[in-house]
Amino acid sequence: MPAYVLGPGREKSLLHRHPWVFSGAVATIKGEVTPGATVDVMADDGRFLGRAAASPASQIRARIWSFDPNDKIDAAFFERRVAAAVAWRASQFSEGNTAARLVHAESDGLPGIIVDRYGDTLVVQILSAGAEAWRETIFDALAGVTGCAHIFERSDAEVRALEGLPPRSGPVRGTGSAGLVIAEHGIRYAVDVVGGQKTGFYLDQRDNRRRIGELAGGRDVLDCFGYTGGFALNALRGGARSVLCVDSSGDAVAAAMRNAQSNGLDDGRGQWVEADVFKHLRLLRDQARQFDLIVLDPPKLAPTAAHVERAARAYKDINLLGCKLLRPGGLLATFSCSGGVGIELFQKIVAGAAVDARIDAQIIGRLGPSADHPVLLSFPEGDYLKGLLVRLANPTATGGASGP
Ligand code: SAH
Repeated sequence: MPAYVLGPGREKSLLHRHPWVFSGAVATIKGEVTPGATVDVMADDGRFLGRAAASPASQIRARIWSFDPNDKIDAAFFERRVAAAVAWRASQFSEGNTAARLVHAESDGLPGIIVDRYGDTLVVQILSAGAEAWRETIFDALAGVTGCAHIFERSDAEVRALEGLPPRSGPVRGTGSAGLVIAEHGIRYAVDVVGGQKTGFYLDQRDNRRRIGELAGGRDVLDCFGYTGGFALNALRGGARSVLCVDSSGDAVAAAMRNAQSNGLDDGRGQWVEADVFKHLRLLRDQARQFDLIVLDPPKLAPTAAHVERAARAYKDINLLGCKLLRPGGLLATFSCSGGVGIELFQKIVAGAAVDARIDAQIIGRLGPSADHPVLLSFPEGDYLKGLLVRLANPTATGGASGP
């Protein structure tokens, strides 16, 4: 088997079971390494560290499949890993919840592999050279373990380019993908696995959408970055007085309106707007609109560490505007799904926004992904989704001017 031998002292992260080997850590390549090939990763002194998938084009030069020298990377290995990931998700499904993430990449010991289940359809993202090399094996394992006849591939995420892989999408098993409808907390959503964003639905926000539904009763709600209406529909069902849902994607807004209709929630309380949130929040401010509950769920504003500073400004901008649009006692549920923006930085940004908005605000809840998106303790990079539930405690009497 070919091998990557690391430079002196570069084995530390692997000894802590972190699954990535960066290009700078590799000192010597033994044998011929092709993209996706299985390699042994060795310490400078010849110690075995892990068995990995090589990715010669990527800064992440190898991703560990197993730290066990006895593990053979073959079809049985993928069956075991997939079965383990799928088995403990059984509790995630019920009559009212027919969708969940089955495989969460590194956090399930399957680097580069994302699998979302929507009813009887699986949507798969193959995002690394190693996963690409085993794609058919992985599809077979998924079909065998889940019994799902339909598997659709959505490997069109930009990160594939970093692995030297072209985008790829289409059915890989069965056909079914049209007319797909899932239930989440008993609310039905049409999921467009072919043309929708990511795999078609943002399953990671499941628990937070329910929370918003529980908080929405009697409130005027603003759902920013609403996609197909997840937060907005929960708010409507939770008895919101009004819900304004904003997204820049016309397709998403149209889908959200259809979802409201199919759930019998199109009773005039909801308003659906196709607009850039950064601009629309300013318009709402200029119109002196006020809300009691605001959700900010932007897309990943910092795709890599290099974008963090600019992303921080963008997060600050929307959170500042959000704070200004809140009534006293109002709630702001604010999220970041940027891996490069940790919770400490995010909290600092939101605190800065509250200061600039001249409000006293309290954190009354910390929000994270639902359990089907686990975070492996040895892989903090997987901890991408963080959120704060903030309450406007004490606006200044003059509505913005500093204290008495
Ligand atoms: N809250 C959603 C998921 C949001 S994903 C849910 O519960 O399902 C982020 C959304 O932001 C996407 O729908 C995308 O179309 C939208 N978006 C991206 N940039 C935007 C912008 N500048 N203004 C408004 N929406 C934007």
